[in-house]
Formats: sequence, C-alpha cells, structure tokens
Amino acid sequence: MRQHSMRTVLAIRFVLLVLIAISLISIFSNVLITRQFESYVEEEQKIKADDLAKNLANQYHTQENGWNLDYVHGIGMSALDDGFIIKLYDKDDNSLWDAENHDMRLCHEVMESIALDMQNKRPDLNGSFMMHRYDLIQAGVVVGYLDISYYSPYYMDETDFQFMSALNRILIVIGSVSLFGAIVMGVLLANQIVKPISKTVDVIQQISQGDYHTRFQGGIATKELYELTQAVNFMAESLEEQENLRKRLTSDVAHELRTPVANISSYMEMMMDGVLEPTPERLETCYYEWQRISDLISDLERLRQMESEHLQLHKTEVNLLELSETVMKNFESRLREKQLDGQVIGDMSLILVDQGRIQQVMTNLVSNAIKYSDDGGTVRIVIKDTKKNSIISVEDSGIGIASQDFNRVFERFYRTDKSRNRKTGGSGIGLTIVKAIVQAHKGTIKVESEEGKGSQFIVILPKINSQ
Ligand code: ADP
Repeated sequence: MRQHSMRTVLAIRFVLLVLIAISLISIFSNVLITRQFESYVEEEQKIKADDLAKNLANQYHTQENGWNLDYVHGIGMSALDDGFIIKLYDKDDNSLWDAENHDMRLCHEVMESIALDMQNKRPDLNGSFMMHRYDLIQAGVVVGYLDISYYSPYYMDETDFQFMSALNRILIVIGSVSLFGAIVMGVLLANQIVKPISKTVDVIQQISQGDYHTRFQGGIATKELYELTQAVNFMAESLEEQENLRKRLTSDVAHELRTPVANISSYMEMMMDGVLEPTPERLETCYYEWQRISDLISDLERLRQMESEHLQLHKTEVNLLELSETVMKNFESRLREKQLDGQVIGDMSLILVDQGRIQQVMTNLVSNAIKYSDDGGTVRIVIKDTKKNSIISVEDSGIGIASQDFNRVFERFYRTDKSRNRKTGGSGIGLTIVKAIVQAHKGTIKVESEEGKGSQFIVILPKINSQ
C-alpha cells in the first residue's frame, strides 16, 4: 500500500474538516438569513398596508362628512410607487377613488414590472398580486372600505436584493478567509505534530544502527509527544548503559585474567626450561594464581545465574538472627587472625527467603567487612524486625568508603582502590551478587559509610513480597 506522509494526511484532513464546517455554516446561515429577511419583508409589507388604511381613515372629515379626494389621490399615487394599488369605497361601498381607473397604464406598468422582477429573482415563489380588504374606521365607526392589491407573499425591491447579495458576499469572504486560515493552521499543526515524530524516527534509526549516543533534543509542547521522545531517550540511555557494561565486562574479565595467567605461564615456562626449580613454594604460588582464576570464573558463573531473569528462589521460613550467628561462626578463624570482634545482635526475625542465597549475602558482606578492616576492630551483624520488613545491617569499623563510591561499589568489578584491593584478592563481584540476590527478593540495599571510620551495609527485605 502506498504510504503518504503524515504531514500531508494531517493537513488535508484538517483542511477538509474545516471546509465541511465552513460550507455547512455558510449554507445554514445563508438559508436562515434569507428566510428571516423574507419574513421581515413580508411583515413590513403588511404593516405598510395597515398604515395605509389607517392613514386613509384619518382623511375622512366627520364634519364635512366626506373624503378629501386630493389627499386620497396623493396617498394612492405614492402607494403605487411602493407596489400598492388601492381602491377606496365609501361606507355604502361606492367607489370613490381607484388607482387603476385613475392611471390604468401606470398601474399595469407597476404590476408587470413587480411581477416580472419577482419571477426572475424568485421563480419558485409563485407569487401574484392579491387583494386585501380593510375597513376604514374613525372613532369606532366604519367610514369606508379600502382594497389594497400587492404582490404576495412578499415583494422585494432592488435595495432589498442588493442587501441580500451584499450579505452573501460577506459570507463568501468570511468563508474564504477562514479556509485560507485553516490551510495555514493545518500545515502549522501538522508540522508541530510531525516534526518531533520524524525527529524521533531519525533518533530510533540512528540507535538501530548502533549509535547509542543520539538523543532527542528540543522542547515539545504536547504531553504525549514529549513522553514519546523521553521514552526514546530513556531507551537510548539504557542501551548505551548496556553497551558500556558489555564492553566493560569483556575488558574487565580480560584484565582480571591477564595477571594470573601471565604469572602462571611465566613460572611454568621457566620451570619447564629448567631455569627455576619447581619448589613447593613456587607450585603454591602457581596454585594461588590458579585459584584466583577459578574463583573469578565461579563468581562470574554465580553472577550470571543471579542476574538471569529466572533466578529460582527456594523459599523457606528462616530465622535471620540464627542464620547471622552461623555466618559469623564460619568466619571465626579469619576474625581471630585479624583480632576482630565479631558480634551478632538484634531481634529475632522470621521471614520467607531462600536461605542459601541470604546466607551468601551475609557471607559476602561479612567477608568484605573483615577484608576492609584493620586489625583490632569490630564486625557486627544487626538484625531488626519491623511489621513490614526484616533488616540486616552489616557494620564494620574499617577503612570506609567515599560517598561518591556508594552506588558504584555494587557495579561489577568496581573496586574503590584497585591496587590495594588486588592484594585483598577481591574481584569486585561480591557486592554485585549481593545486590542481585536482594533484588530477587524484592528488597533493597544501601551503604552508609565514613572514610576511616567504618561502613554499614543495610539490606531491607520486605515480608509481604516474600510470601
Ligand atoms: P571485592 O571482591 O573487591 O571485595 P565487592 O563487590 O565485594 O568486591 O566490593 C566492591 C568494592 O567495594 C571493594 O573492592 C571495596 O573497595 C569496597 N567495599 C566493599 N565492602 C567494603 C567495606 N566493608 N569497607 C570498605 N570498602 C568496601
């Protein structure tokens, strides 16, 4: 199917709509105004005829008991100009003055010109001259009768027709100006809607070609279009983030593997060449390096499993206080090595969780607390129980974390001080795993710390979602 540009479709539809509206308004107003004007003219004609009768009745002089026929003649002739042909009778119905008798030629001329005029201009009116009889009354007494013939149902003279056509011309001008305005508005409106959409399409096309830096820029007044562009920007941002993460992961893994692999291969080569003796210490060093690689692989494997969407949780009711004691006990010898005071305090808190995974969370946090503590400090697990949540807080009095690193410590391979941490053997994945497990339990984790004073990792596990 042939596709037309949205701009054209919108503009054409808008103009069509306005065109229909203008035509309907024009037709209706034309019909209504004409009808209204015709009934006004008809009414006027009746009023004029009434006035004529009243005027003539006033010509009757009671004292002289007669009609002033000069006046009647004057009135009759001027009425003729307005298309009224009159006949005056006395109270005994005797004809006193008759316009047709008086000037038959003029009367017929007037009648013919009116009839011709109206038949030309209003052929569907089917009008004709009709006679209307009026009683002429003075002081409550009938003093005569008047027959008035005029073109019925109404007669419009040249000025009336001019007025009507002026009105129609005004309607046409208004219609044309509105149509022109509608075209301009239609194009502007279509542009306003289409511009951001085509810009968004451009951005999406650029993104699909792998350019994740592109963003939609510029202000938009329409709420829905603004939301659309924001959604596209957000999508570009997350794609960019994913892409960066993917790149960083590859380079980090390579980087992490390079040192131990290089160490092992140089030792091996030298031992194979007979340059170095394969002493138990050297083999132990190789084994240590090998262990680092193997730890890294299992960390990565665990992380992949944690971050996969279908992380299966085998939930059972767990007493977090008891679990904390078990974890702390497992670190007994390492705590002793660094002369650290390991404590577990707090409330008994029962919650439905995957015991193995939550133990992993505690183990990673306590392991870090020990790793990043100088000799002689305190490592503490505090359990708090509220109506809605179970809160696990792992606190140490170690080296602390700078506030700008609070969020970054949960990223893969992120280490606050690389050279120092390499010595501690950390790969920067422990907290990423912790966060993944906590999120799988619909919980949250945050860190509070002061450099040189210690750190506190707070895990909040909701009880409702754990059911
Ligand atoms: P690692 O295996 O390097 O410990 P983690 O993901 O567990 O990796 O931690 C990431 C980084 O966060 C660590 O390298 C360290 O710099 C910092 N960190 C974690 N826990 C603590 C802590 N308790 N005290 C100080 N720094 C910490």
